[in-house]
Amino acid sequence: MSVFETVPEGTGLAVHNPATGALIATVRDYAPAEIAAIIDAADAARPAWAAETAKARAAVLRRWYALIMERQEELAALITAECGKPLAEARGEVAYGASFIEWFAEEAKRAYGETVPTFAVGKRVLTIKQPVGTCAAITPWNFPIAMITRKVGPALAAGCSIVVKPAEATPLSALALETLAREAGVPADLFRVTPSNDPAGVGALFCHHPKVRKLSFTGSTRVGKILMAQAAENVTRLSLELGGNAPFIVFDDADLDAAADGLMASKFRNAGQTCVCANRVLVQDSVHDAFVERLRAKVAALVVGDGAAPGTTIGPLINAAAVEKVESLVGDALAGGATALMGGHRSDVGASFFEPTVLAGVNPQMAIATSEIFGPVVPLIRFKDEDQAVRIANDTPFGLAAYFFARDLGRVWRVMEALEYGMVGVNDGIISTEVAPFGGIKQSGLGREGSRHGLDEYLELKYCLMGGI
Ligand code: NAD
Repeated sequence: MSVFETVPEGTGLAVHNPATGALIATVRDYAPAEIAAIIDAADAARPAWAAETAKARAAVLRRWYALIMERQEELAALITAECGKPLAEARGEVAYGASFIEWFAEEAKRAYGETVPTFAVGKRVLTIKQPVGTCAAITPWNFPIAMITRKVGPALAAGCSIVVKPAEATPLSALALETLAREAGVPADLFRVTPSNDPAGVGALFCHHPKVRKLSFTGSTRVGKILMAQAAENVTRLSLELGGNAPFIVFDDADLDAAADGLMASKFRNAGQTCVCANRVLVQDSVHDAFVERLRAKVAALVVGDGAAPGTTIGPLINAAAVEKVESLVGDALAGGATALMGGHRSDVGASFFEPTVLAGVNPQMAIATSEIFGPVVPLIRFKDEDQAVRIANDTPFGLAAYFFARDLGRVWRVMEALEYGMVGVNDGIISTEVAPFGGIKQSGLGREGSRHGLDEYLELKYCLMGGI
């Protein structure tokens, strides 16, 4: 069985392989007016689903989880084809994405209310948690499965319905998720995926449709701000997972081998196109050269190529415009006095590829250190002491993820507390897991995904007062 339906070439949304430029498929392009009717249907399907027990909903979600894992290989190939990441990473994303469905299926069984010690004789105070209602979601291309399951898993588990507009570049794995959900027994109208070539029109619809009670968005801070302004009209509840500018700090007491490994994992996953990727690498003066030596050996071992080819560790960027952006940031840094220790150019593998690059002598004011690079580039910034490192790290409007490597226990605590970020990796470069709350502060967003907190994003807390007792 095919996991998504196609339409004739030229009549819908065309999906291309970023590694080769080849057309993979054309899928239906939903206009906002069609999506409005789909929202109405989702809203109509919701009460019956919400009336089920959490245990009954969990049974359906567990079947969905199992089907995704059964089709892991096929879904991974789809992710690699439409988003470019190496197959091994795509397999990892399928498992990571599925884990949110399994997690929230269980977590919803524990959406406890509470009884509160009373404030007056003859009265009782209690709270219950109830599903928010019909939800909408808009997701990016860099994790085409996981960014959807982090929203749809808790929404369905909580008793909500949800309509998802995936990124234009990566609707295929999203549609495959929808097919498998249906096969698992998720009612057809309850969860819909609606690819569209009119993202602004769909964003406005999600914010203005009276039946949408909550919008969850993952993407750029620029679009997040547009949605936040639009959401004001209906006071639509919002979750925003936006851009980052993660500092990665190597202190003089760090295990330098572990730090180099941590940086490789944090920086080069998905060719540097993750919101939590190390964006600025701050290294203390006294260990700078020793750290860079270790890093060079590891970067030299990266293999650039089509993500579907065996052995590839760095796939393409999502499109040629992404390569141009990275090229211009690198060019600006070099013009400002930075040096390319490795790479620095487009790769000759193809139009969407950029060489793994290490730049030394970057200063914190350069564009490459103040904007999201979204490419395989390590900008190295030197610092003298702990205060200076923390100051540079926090000097940004973003606050998603930060990382540091150090062994002194006092320093570990001080820096962990001082970093103004939603997530901090200490002596580790990979922080994403379904058991922990993922999310940012400042202009990196609102709300959390994963963990028990991720369920609360889809629940309303109702307070009930009982008198006459
Ligand atoms: P983007 O903001 O351009 O697009 C994200 C989604 O928004 C897409 O589905 C797109 O179609 C849609 N969109 C575009 N314009 C819109 C509009 N005017 N109204 C409504 N929707 C609109 O981002 P992108 O380039 O696809 O993804 C990369 C960005 O996402 C980076 O900034 C990255 O940091 C961020 N991101 C954040 C997280 C997180 O959890 N914080 C995770 C992954 C990616």
